[in-house]
Amino acid sequence: MGKPTGFLEYERKNNQAVEPLERIKNFNEFHTPMREKDRREQAARCMNCGVPFCQSGMMIGGMASGCPLNNLVPEWNDLLYHGNYKKALQMLRQTNNFPEFTSRVCPALCEAACTCGLNDTPVTCKANENAIIEYGYANELMGAQLQRLGPAKRLQSSVPVLPDWQQPISLTAAVIPLRYMREMIISEVF
Ligand code: SF4
Ligand code: SF4
Repeated sequence: MGKPTGFLEYERKNNQAVEPLERIKNFNEFHTPMREKDRREQAARCMNCGVPFCQSGMMIGGMASGCPLNNLVPEWNDLLYHGNYKKALQMLRQTNNFPEFTSRVCPALCEAACTCGLNDTPVTCKANENAIIEYGYANELMGAQLQRLGPAKRLQSSVPVLPDWQQPISLTAAVIPLRYMREMIISEVF
């Protein structure tokens, strides 16, 4: 936990967003990143809960709760607060192959499950994730994550993925085994 009093000191702040009627005129990014100091303060709001519901990814009462990818949210919030973007990126990529998508289009089940939201507003996990992955691209840290396995150990498989907003999550599920395979066919399910 980066700053034990962070959740008491800092209020939730969101990135500025272009008005909906304006943003539909093009395909540009419509969120403006906040200053780095402010972003790190947002990460400092994370309490590193003993039971981090944000990353649970489980069904409660028939509803999905917490990050379905089990992203290591408290860990990378802490690293982000300390300014260790490189390590935060490594940690983010352990569970998420497409943070550049999920940090934009995910419905943020992590935030809906965040303990900080019980009495106050939840931690800005989704925007924090976006800050980490954007750092990775801006600093040329992104590259293939292939495992060094011999051809004999590589398999062939076919994986269906779900349409629309579920695609980042199902594509992630499809790509993880790809690290161990020679070839994979990914097809969309309608
Ligand atoms: S925004 Fe990121 S951390 Fe939150 S639920 Fe989606 S993928 Fe998981
Ligand atoms: S539930 Fe919220 S406050 Fe607790 S560890 Fe997760 S992001 Fe941090």
